[in-house]
Amino acid sequence: MDHYDVIIIGTGAGGGTMARALAPTGKRILILERGGYLPRERENWDTRAVFIEHRYSPDETWHHAGKAFNPSHPHYYVGGSTKVYGAALLRLRERDFEEVEHAGGVSPAWPITYADLEPYYNRAEKWYYVHGEAGLDPTEPPRSEPFPYAPLPHEPRIEKLNRDLKALGLNPYPLPMGVRLGTEDGAQGPETVLSLFDGYPDPTLSKADSHVCGIIPALEHDNVTLKTHHRVTRLNTDATGRRVASVTAETAGGDQVSFSADTVVLAAGAINSAALLLRSANEHHPDGLANSSGLVGCHYMSHNNQTFVAVGEEPNDAIFQKTLALADFYFESDAWEHPMGLIQMLGKVDELLMKFESPEPLGGMTHAEMAQHSLDFWLQSEDLPDAENRVALNAAGEIEFHYTANNLEARDRLTETLRGMLHDLGCRDDMVAISYYLGQQFPFNLAHQMGTLRFGTDPAASVLDPLCRAHDLDNLYVTDGGFFVSAGAVNPTLTIIAQTLRVADHLTAEVL
Ligand SMILES: Cc1cc2nc3c(=O)[nH]c(=O)nc-3n(C[C@H](O)[C@H](O)[C@H](O)COP(=O)(O)OP(=O)(O)OC[C@H]3O[C@@H](n4cnc5c(N)ncnc54)[C@H](O)[C@@H]3O)c2cc1C
Repeated sequence: MDHYDVIIIGTGAGGGTMARALAPTGKRILILERGGYLPRERENWDTRAVFIEHRYSPDETWHHAGKAFNPSHPHYYVGGSTKVYGAALLRLRERDFEEVEHAGGVSPAWPITYADLEPYYNRAEKWYYVHGEAGLDPTEPPRSEPFPYAPLPHEPRIEKLNRDLKALGLNPYPLPMGVRLGTEDGAQGPETVLSLFDGYPDPTLSKADSHVCGIIPALEHDNVTLKTHHRVTRLNTDATGRRVASVTAETAGGDQVSFSADTVVLAAGAINSAALLLRSANEHHPDGLANSSGLVGCHYMSHNNQTFVAVGEEPNDAIFQKTLALADFYFESDAWEHPMGLIQMLGKVDELLMKFESPEPLGGMTHAEMAQHSLDFWLQSEDLPDAENRVALNAAGEIEFHYTANNLEARDRLTETLRGMLHDLGCRDDMVAISYYLGQQFPFNLAHQMGTLRFGTDPAASVLDPLCRAHDLDNLYVTDGGFFVSAGAVNPTLTIIAQTLRVADHLTAEVL
């Protein structure tokens, strides 16, 4: 069996970032990834292939409430789900790390503070090319460094939306976006034109994903090996049960291969990491690895999202409209005494998707006109951690969800607040709700997966410690979305990257 200093499982935001962070240590590092490289092909920007035929979705069967379904997310490629993500890279607010009262219950405190993560957010923004502007977002947390890159400029229709929102007394601000543009890093040629984006793979490699920003730089080091098409099926402990001694993976050809390591970093995504730990039960860990608390898989969160297309009186010629966000309703506001959430622009919905989502066009319009005039909004509210919302395994070892939605009033009020502004924003009063992003008819989404392996100081109430080491195992760390204690209402990935960098610093200084 080949022995390594570190094995990293998965190449998404957590795994890819960890690989780059540990590569300069010179330690022997093996990365195991179940997928291959996402092909750069015409279909990357083909709406039918991406959203209707789900060309880049996994070929798997999961279950919920007695029904089988094919998940549209996550994505099994080098780069994980970041290969198709929207690259809106926001910091959690300072208060998100504390207990916050919501209409639907309590969003609990994290075992670390915003100040603990702040230096790592700075590095995360540099590594992932975050473009933004400080000082405009009314809820933004304090920063010790400016954004590394200037905000993406609004195209004319979005600049008008910006002005209209300000005229309503609100504080729109540039959506922090992770994109590599033109000559900014010297690696690319002429200025990149951003176009179809969230949900679509990016054949130009302008999207700052963990393949581009994590794995490619990591593989420049001779001490780092990536094995694609190696699906990890089991973590095996030593005779004491306190250490992961080896990792077993299945190759594309169906062979079982094992590797050993001094330290194992699991970053298979919040759902798959929990499932893998449950599948790795043995005589020392009868309920699953790292599961003495019984909490592995519990507290699944994914945000209460809503995608809305508003149809403006004037055409929207923007090619790339993901440049604006609105956080005025994130916490308590004049509009409601409880937090509602965040509004941000989404990639442009095209005619095909409009037809698919809204078979009956809005009165007096064709689908093409609707698409030409649309302003596309992504609304995001916090769902609260509930131990009963969980990832489990069925008798066949397949993933089974138990989930009941909560705190929905926040999302619904946010929707109504936006609807109430439409007239002043130069739009029709009727909005079209679209679901392609959420992917299925279930009451949870799979794009923003978090919380299944929450971190904390109490081993009876958490799976990981504040540095993401499993309480029950001396050499197992988890750095994917599983560690979140609460979801906040900002997109999760910058926080996954920042905490991964924090754990990597710890590993480098204290463990390796
Ligand atoms: C359409 C879409 C849009 C999104 N937009 C945004 C956005 O704008 N901003 C934002 O912050 N977030 C966004 N997200 C969420 C973002 O993609 C995730 O938060 C992020 O990718 C999570 O990183 P991760 O490391 O936890 O998991 P992943 O990125 O899912 O990575 C997990 C990796 O592990 C691999 N893996 C899984 N199981 C195994 C196994 N058994 N053996 C070996 N390898 C395995 C997978 O192939 C994958 O490479 C979006 C997601 C989607 C789907």
